[in-house]
Amino acid sequence: MKKTAITLAAGALLASMAFAGSAFAQDYPTKPITVVVPFSAGGPTDTVARLVAEVMSQDLGQQVVVQNVGGAGGTLGAGQVAVAQNDGYTLLLHHIGMSTAPTLYRSLPYDPTTDFAPIGLITSVPMTLVARKDFEPNTMAELLDYVKANGEDITYAHAGIGSASQLCGMLFMNAVDAQMTTVPYQGSGPAMTDIIGGQVDLICDQTTNTTSQIQAGEVKAYGVTSPERLGNLPDLATTAEGGLELEIGVWHGLYAPAGTDAAIIERLEAALQVALANETVISRFAELGTVPVTAEEATPAALTETLTSQIELWKGVIEAAGVYAD
Ligand code: ASP
Repeated sequence: MKKTAITLAAGALLASMAFAGSAFAQDYPTKPITVVVPFSAGGPTDTVARLVAEVMSQDLGQQVVVQNVGGAGGTLGAGQVAVAQNDGYTLLLHHIGMSTAPTLYRSLPYDPTTDFAPIGLITSVPMTLVARKDFEPNTMAELLDYVKANGEDITYAHAGIGSASQLCGMLFMNAVDAQMTTVPYQGSGPAMTDIIGGQVDLICDQTTNTTSQIQAGEVKAYGVTSPERLGNLPDLATTAEGGLELEIGVWHGLYAPAGTDAAIIERLEAALQVALANETVISRFAELGTVPVTAEEATPAALTETLTSQIELWKGVIEAAGVYAD
């Protein structure tokens, strides 16, 4: 008898908790949402986040605020979101680094596949090899020879181990079979400032962060890592055209901490799709050589699929290169 009463009370409590949860999800959002970008302000991931966040804010009726938590190649910010409250008010916008970090870091404090609830893919974007404008080589062929001859005398900037620029640099050095001196930053925004200022020699970075500098002649560009030339930079040859086998597309995704209510994920997914269909977002992305995904790809299923397959893909490449953060 006593047991039945307890069971009933527990059942009632559970039911009321579930009701409170769904009522909470129905009202969502009732306050500003933070999107953590795990790199510095002014870089390409930050640019993608700010463009998308503005339209998501309008759609959700609450401010979507970008917070830059740079450090450790994006793993610091991702680690913070992995343990944040799963109430829909702290999200993560990250890139391909979600799939490389599990192999690069032997002791990563989070698991990208279990500590996050994927919301959707956002964009894919190629990278460009660019240097300070007075860097000696003028063409891709000259660059390849120059790196082979001068190796460690050359400074290569990247956004930390786990970043796209580090991945691209690693692939580049492997292809050329030479080591350059690497200079880590908390994001490629500040790295680009130093390239323009002439403090470092070379970087491989998303076109989101290099297009205007290339167009303005502030940097010297050698090639784009896409299979075809880009509409926004038609004069820039592909890496393959320049004799370098290096193809890489950086993808971005939006995540919540694992265990976030399914109704909240759905609401965020819908807002993300609205942002990616927005004319201003589409045309700004086009100017920057960044391609927004389709509505079918801006979904938890597509992001889960990409994340899982990319972890496998990069595992093989990184293990073959033998590059680790610790
Ligand atoms: N583009 C950077 C990277 O190399 C990160 C950033 O600042 O967005 O991953």
